[in-house]
Amino acid sequence: MTTVFKFGGASIKDADAIRHLGELLFHLEARPDVVVVSAMGKTTNALEALLAAARGSDEDDYRQQLEALRRDHLTSVEALFGTRQGKVGERVEELLTELDARHRKHRDDARPRHYDQTICYGELLSTTIVSAWFNEIDLPCDWHDARRLIITDANHQAANVDWAETSQRLQALHGKRLVVTQGFIGGSTDGLATTLGREGSDFSVAIIAHCLDADEVVIWKDVPGLFNADPRRFDNARQLMRLSYDEAIELAWLGAKVIHPKTLAPLRERRIPLKVRSFEALDAPPSVISERGGDDPTPACIIAEEQVLLEIQPRDFSFMDEIRQHDVFGRLVDAGLHANLIDSGAMRLSLCLDTHPARLTPLIESLAADYALTRHGDLTLLSVRHPTQALLEGLSASREVLAQRGNACCAQRLFRSAECPETWHIPD
Ligand code: ADP
Ligand code: ASP
Ligand code: MG
Repeated sequence: MTTVFKFGGASIKDADAIRHLGELLFHLEARPDVVVVSAMGKTTNALEALLAAARGSDEDDYRQQLEALRRDHLTSVEALFGTRQGKVGERVEELLTELDARHRKHRDDARPRHYDQTICYGELLSTTIVSAWFNEIDLPCDWHDARRLIITDANHQAANVDWAETSQRLQALHGKRLVVTQGFIGGSTDGLATTLGREGSDFSVAIIAHCLDADEVVIWKDVPGLFNADPRRFDNARQLMRLSYDEAIELAWLGAKVIHPKTLAPLRERRIPLKVRSFEALDAPPSVISERGGDDPTPACIIAEEQVLLEIQPRDFSFMDEIRQHDVFGRLVDAGLHANLIDSGAMRLSLCLDTHPARLTPLIESLAADYALTRHGDLTLLSVRHPTQALLEGLSASREVLAQRGNACCAQRLFRSAECPETWHIPD
């Protein structure tokens, strides 16, 4: 039985959380073969801010942020190991020195490449501390560098996996003692770090499980499982106990933040069940996603905030035909953006996108040169899987709908965030 576990940032956010994780593994009926770990807490956000300071040539700000990262990680090391730090503290210092050197080496590269060479350190740091802690508490394990396990192309920030090479490398791990490795990161054949996209550690666990032909994957979360809406935003969300891969893919694709959308397909192909389980309440029954899940027709709601709507019109009053749509979508692909909702008319194409300034600004500049453009910001997109008219009306209340689309499987409506409730309720 091969089992692969994944622990996200919240489960290792500080020394107490790492201690809890060790106890959890120690007392579990069956130990995993591989543990995939994200960066601690919100480290990846902190690294992105560090990169922004570095690329803005704000050396003081960069230095301060690097020091804050160092302090945060060393505080956890200190709290966990006290005077018995051995090489852990030293290794953390080494990794931060390496981060600084890599940033300087790649500062003139295109941003995505520079990004991957620096942001990967969140996971390198966390796994260094977590694996040392496991060994400290008699959970023997080895730290493995995912840059040499998950082999990808050089499409930085959204790297594509070389499945054959990755399989070969991962299979060499069979029979080894507990493997602790990084989520989110990989490496290209030219020796550079790559990343799989934000929240990509879920995808890492799926890659590893697929390549090892594992029997089970468990993603440990700060919620008991997969719900029909974010339980932190909907007061009556309920847990979905069994779900098919296809249904889970649809929910993830619509933006249910709990699982990265790329996670399910590699598992479905090998029929590897995925459990979403609480690291806080070990007795809580997990959600199980498998081929026997059945298509749960329970309506599910997904909200995505910080959305922007671009209304694009030809300047010459011609139609927004296939040729123009092809042109607009080409520019969208070039900008590395994805349309969360597409609403079109004879002379208009409306696209709802994540507010991602580094990608959005060049797209807007490019479109504005050739099209009449209207932009609306601060929007919230509501997506409903298995919608009913009554449910949609109840959820929309009397808010103005800025854009929408819908069919029997899924309906989407875009609202002004200022008009949306803090806590949502799914109507009966
Ligand atoms: P991790 O860092 O472990 O990947 P995430 O923060 O990405 O964890 O995902 C867990 C969070 O996802 C939960 O705290 C919850 O608020 C949110 N969430 C959003 N949609 C759902 C859903 N449909 N079911 C469960 N949790 C959800
Ligand atoms: N640390 C990465 C992120 O915050 C990957 C992950 O947590 O899944 O996006
Ligand atoms: Mg996540």
